[in-house]
Parts: sequence; structure tokens; C-alpha cells
Amino acid sequence: MTSSHAKTVSPESPDLRSLDLERLASEMTEGLGERAFRAKQIYRWLHKRCAASFEEMTDLSRDLRMSLRERYRLDTLEIDRIERSSDGTSKLGLRTRDGLIVESVHIPEWRSRTPQIDTAPDRSTLCISSQVGCNMGCRFCLTSRMGLVRNLTVGEILDQVYRACRWLQTEGNGSPRPITNLVFMGMGEPLNNYANVRAAIDVLLSSDGLDFSHRHMTVSTSGVVPALERLGRETDVKVAVSLTGTTDEVRSSLMPVNERWPLKVLLEACRRMPLRRGRRITFEYVLIRGITDSLEDVDRLAHLLRSIPSKVNLISYNECSGLPFKSPSGEQVERFRSRLAERGFTAVVRRSRGSDIAAACGQLATSGQK
Ligand code: SAH
Ligand code: SF4
Repeated sequence: MTSSHAKTVSPESPDLRSLDLERLASEMTEGLGERAFRAKQIYRWLHKRCAASFEEMTDLSRDLRMSLRERYRLDTLEIDRIERSSDGTSKLGLRTRDGLIVESVHIPEWRSRTPQIDTAPDRSTLCISSQVGCNMGCRFCLTSRMGLVRNLTVGEILDQVYRACRWLQTEGNGSPRPITNLVFMGMGEPLNNYANVRAAIDVLLSSDGLDFSHRHMTVSTSGVVPALERLGRETDVKVAVSLTGTTDEVRSSLMPVNERWPLKVLLEACRRMPLRRGRRITFEYVLIRGITDSLEDVDRLAHLLRSIPSKVNLISYNECSGLPFKSPSGEQVERFRSRLAERGFTAVVRRSRGSDIAAACGQLATSGQK
């Protein structure tokens, strides 16, 4: 093997961060003739200590680090830029090894509801992407304008979390895991990249990784029904379903996914979801002026969600340049919320965070250019 090969490991070599512990163990013993415990050591470097390179793994011999470098890629994302909002939200632009930009959003929350940026937040949520772009075609969402550039790998999904952890630690949050909650609500439809999202969830839940609880992880979907049912069968993470539209006509005109899996089919699947005790499904509902924000919509929504343990997140539309939709007035949002509450639903108006840096829901879009 030549030294130039060592420097330019082929793009076809496996990404070490994408391997699960079992596969890593067989690679170590069968591929490299190492003892099995090395696998756990490397896994912990990658997934607990958020290592960015082989060089950091200082308790491995130089020879082993060299062999690793020759055999595997490490798809570490590079922080391209960080934009900060006046409300404490930050948008991270992360560059993949093939030059694409992936966006993640960090949303610190303080119990008092007013940002106290100098104190540690009570909750620290990272909103991560599952794809570069999205091919679901929702008319109101800027990400859909990009089309689908590609799925993110397991390693890239995970590394959004790891780079954010490292960055927050350098910012002064010295906790071993400065992120408390994870939401798959960034760019892309997570259930269209099911295998990689599922594998990333398993690593994030692992006690040899960051040891998240399924209670602190939410996957948001536009309503890809078969994959939603599979997620319910195979994991315990929380689910958010983006509803936005209370008739098939309106929902199909906004979200083409509704033509494939209309409201009745989607809500039947939600009704059948196996839920842990006390768990509810979150329904995200974007209020778009004159289209989804009427009081008749409230009544239809209440009817659609009957007998589903639910919580409704109302999101006032974030206007996007080039898209024709408008946000409703604050009063209309409040009328909608209170009528839904009167109907017996838990309805929360999600404060729009980070809109001054285009980090709010639906505003994530990059050129996808190399
Ligand atoms: N693809 C997944 C997750 C990412 S989108 C999904 O659609 O659920 C995250 C949320 O942002 C969705 O609920 C979506 O309806 C909402 N959203 C998209 N564009 C928006 C916009 N311009 N204003 C407010 N919310 C928007
Ligand atoms: Fe994709 Fe979600 Fe945007 Fe729809 S709202 S285009 S599913 S990212």
C-alpha cells in the first residue's frame, strides 16, 4: 500500500462513523487482526467523545491509527459558518466532504421564556437535517425548492450532533452533553432516509454513545405512512406529524404527499401507532393566512384528531422570499389556539425562533452547490 493511498482514502471505503458497534467489532477482529475491545474504544471516541479525527484517539497506537486511516473514511463535517439570532438561536452551516452545506439549528430555551443568554439554558435543542434538500414538494417550504440533492449518511447525521456539542463546549457549556433534546426537523424528510435515520437514532441512544433517551428525540414527518408505521414498530422515539390542512383538497394543494396518503389514511395510521404510556403524537400545523387559519379549520382539525392522544403545535407561517404565502395576524393565531383549546386539545403556539437568521421552520435552504 503506498503512502499516497494512505492520504487519499477512496470515497468508497466505509465511513467509520456510520458503522454500528457489531460491524466495528468484526472489522477490528477480522479485518485488522485487533482485539475486540478496540471496537468499543474507537466507538466511544467517535460517539461519546465526538472525535473529529483519528489523531485525537491518543490511546490507540500510531500503527492502528494509521491502519484505520488507510481503510476508512471519517465523514467529519466542517463548520462553514455560524449565524446567531438575537434570541439565542444559532444556525450552523456544516460542509460535507463533497462540498455540500447541511444546516442544523441550536435552540436554547430558558424557563422564564425570555432569553438570558448569559446563563445556561434549561433546555438545549438541536434541530438536525436528514437530507440535503427534500423531494416532498411542500409548496410553502423553502427546502423543497432545492429538490433532493442527496440523503445524508449515518455519519453525517450523527456528526451534526457531535460538531454542535464540541462547539457548545468551546462556547462555555462544559457539560459532557450540552444538548438535551434532538429533533429531526431540519432539512429533508427523515422517513425518506429511513435506514440512515434509524441507524443514527440507535447510536444516539447507545450508552457507549451520547446516551440520549427516546423521550428526548423527535422525528418529524410530512406523512410518509408506511415508514411512519415502521418507525412506530421499531423505535420508541417521539413522532411529530406535519398536518397543515384540514381537508384533502387544501392539504393536497399544499403538500403533494397527501395525494398518496390522504388525511384519512394518515390519521388511521396515527390512531394505530403503538404509544408508550402517557405519550402523545405531536401534530404540527402551519397557520397560513387565508388558507389554513380559519375557525372552520379548527372545528375540522378537532374532528380529525378525535381519539388520538395528541398535542398540537401551531406554527405561524414563516414567510419566505419567492413564496406567495403570508403569515396570519397574531390575533388570528390566538383565536385559532383558544378555540382549539376550548375543543379540549392541548395547543401550543410555537414561538418562531431564529427568523432573523433564516433558521426558523421551513427557512432552511442552501444552494446545495459544491
Ligand atoms: N420534513 C419534515 C421535517 C422538516 S420540516 C416535515 O415536513 O415534517 C419541519 C416543520 O416545518 C414541518 O412541520 C413543516 O410543515 C414546517 N414548515 C415548513 N415550511 C414552513 C414555513 N415556511 N413556516 C413555518 N413552518 C414551516
Ligand atoms: Fe420536505 Fe418537510 Fe419541507 Fe415538506 S415541509 S418539503 S417534507 S422539509
